[in-house]
Amino acid sequence: MKKEIHNNVTKIFYMIRYIWKYTPCYMGILLLQVLGNALWDILVGMLFLKYLFDAIEAGADYSEILYRAVIVMVYRLILILYGKWIENIYRPKANLKLHEGMQTELYQKARKLDLAYYDNPDFYNQFIWAIHESDTRAVKIMSNLSDLLSSMISLLGMSAVFLAIDWIAALAVLVSSALSFFIRIKANKIKYQKMEEMKPLIRKTDYITRVFYQGDFAKELRMGDMVKILQDDFDKSMDQKISCAKKYAPGILIVSLLSQLMTTYLFNIGIVGYLVVRYMLDSDFTLGGFSVGINATWKLFVQVSRIIDCFSRLNEDSVYADKFRTFTELEPQIKNGYEKAAKFETLEFQQVSFSYPFGNQKNREVLKNISFTIRKGEKIALVGYNGAGKTTLTKLAMRLYDVTGGSIKYNGKEIKEYDIESYRAHIGAVFQDYKIFAATVAENVAGGEYREDQNMEITEALKSAAFCNKLETLPKGIHTMLTREFDEQGVNLSGGEMQKIAIARAFAKPYDIIIMDEPSSALDPLAEYELNKVIGAAAKDKTMIFISHRLSTTRMADRIYMFDNGEIVEQGKHEDLMRLNGKYAQMFSIQAKKYHL
Ligand code: ADP
Repeated sequence: MKKEIHNNVTKIFYMIRYIWKYTPCYMGILLLQVLGNALWDILVGMLFLKYLFDAIEAGADYSEILYRAVIVMVYRLILILYGKWIENIYRPKANLKLHEGMQTELYQKARKLDLAYYDNPDFYNQFIWAIHESDTRAVKIMSNLSDLLSSMISLLGMSAVFLAIDWIAALAVLVSSALSFFIRIKANKIKYQKMEEMKPLIRKTDYITRVFYQGDFAKELRMGDMVKILQDDFDKSMDQKISCAKKYAPGILIVSLLSQLMTTYLFNIGIVGYLVVRYMLDSDFTLGGFSVGINATWKLFVQVSRIIDCFSRLNEDSVYADKFRTFTELEPQIKNGYEKAAKFETLEFQQVSFSYPFGNQKNREVLKNISFTIRKGEKIALVGYNGAGKTTLTKLAMRLYDVTGGSIKYNGKEIKEYDIESYRAHIGAVFQDYKIFAATVAENVAGGEYREDQNMEITEALKSAAFCNKLETLPKGIHTMLTREFDEQGVNLSGGEMQKIAIARAFAKPYDIIIMDEPSSALDPLAEYELNKVIGAAAKDKTMIFISHRLSTTRMADRIYMFDNGEIVEQGKHEDLMRLNGKYAQMFSIQAKKYHL
């Protein structure tokens, strides 16, 4: 228990550090408000109230009462103005500053992490949570902490004053508050269990809701029977949610009734009754003491209830703070080397094997004993059926993952020895699952380092990717915005056109090696032929590794490696492999029939 509390406190303060880092005044400003409110409760809610009733009872001078009342009103006014300033002026600005700081840090973190993390669903959930919620959660944590502090100070101060006025009533309030505290903790436990049981059901219904409102699914939903399956799933999950709610309802009812009866009902009525009797029988017990007693009885209950709420909220916060901490403390497994990579000469795969670290086929070798060498200027084709391991090999070559067996050598040295950025600067890759960003054509091609003086190179790169005809039709040429995400005038490209933009990226920089994973998969055979011709001319002096299912592309290769189930089963030129009459020849003849090659 002690350890758990210690852990939760550490987690919570880990997040608070970020508030301190990006908005250092935030805590001081809130603390001042906390103290102001707590002082109000003690000085005004207890002491001034007692003074007021006693003064009225004793027939004191009204001007003196008025004078003190004015001071109280001014104090209240200052508290209100300060609170409004925080709420409407300071907090919105500070929250944005915090958002900017934390998001930037998270983006940088995510960018540094290995691609392998993205294969891990736990990481992904943490990442999504961290990106979406961490700064608002940090603010919540701070306001919960300040509420807790405020309630505790008020509770202590008010209890002290109350004890001095009537220790019996004060003790009774504290005992009943303690009872209520434990009953509420029990209630929270039951609610937590219920939430845990509901979570997978909520996830499921949330998913279904998302499917219905996200544009991505709109087309699919209009075809086939998925709607019926989803609707059935939704109904089933809702039924399960209802039975779960029913199961926990009696427990929650009993505990909350008990809490109400034990505290607000029995104790309050008892204490109020006691105070009335004392006021009637004890002449030393003033009207001031009586009214403060009544007031404190209610207020202390409220404070205890607020403290319990704060604890349970902070408990929940600590779960999120833990996720955040786990995410921010993740370290890339792919370690940087120190060598600067020189211009490309050779790339050797030596008995390379690899298995993905996550996923349901974890530890299954998707590449086994791969050995071959690529030399400057060569055009290499990797072919094979889906899932044979071709893309994985290119990811290893880019050092997006590290090999699990064997080694990859660049210019004779293991790629692990190179500084990753300097190594990757020599390789341009177009992946199958390329993404187009909501930015201009030029920015999409040149990336983050786009400058006006690169326009010529960008246009050349687009030419090398056979995008010229389309470029002429774009309203602002290379400055046309892609996608309509942020710009009504933005252009949505077709699959094939987007692929060409992705290809242009590989030609926009002076890469030595170009890797293309199915560069023409979104094109029809004629467009593919055109593209291959253009790419072939543009990449004349470059080293190229291309993956293709389309065997028409592989005819121009210096060497073809046929992959099957993670292994190289055939290698050579197109003609050699056709003569061999093995798997390659079989694949080729199936396609030749289809496209009449
Ligand atoms: P190809 O490019 O030849 O179609 P891949 O290299 O994409 O094949 O995939 C090889 C094998 O690795 C497949 O069985 C695939 O399911 C598996 N695989 C690919 N990516 C991942 C991943 N991120 N996590 C786990 N397994 C993966």
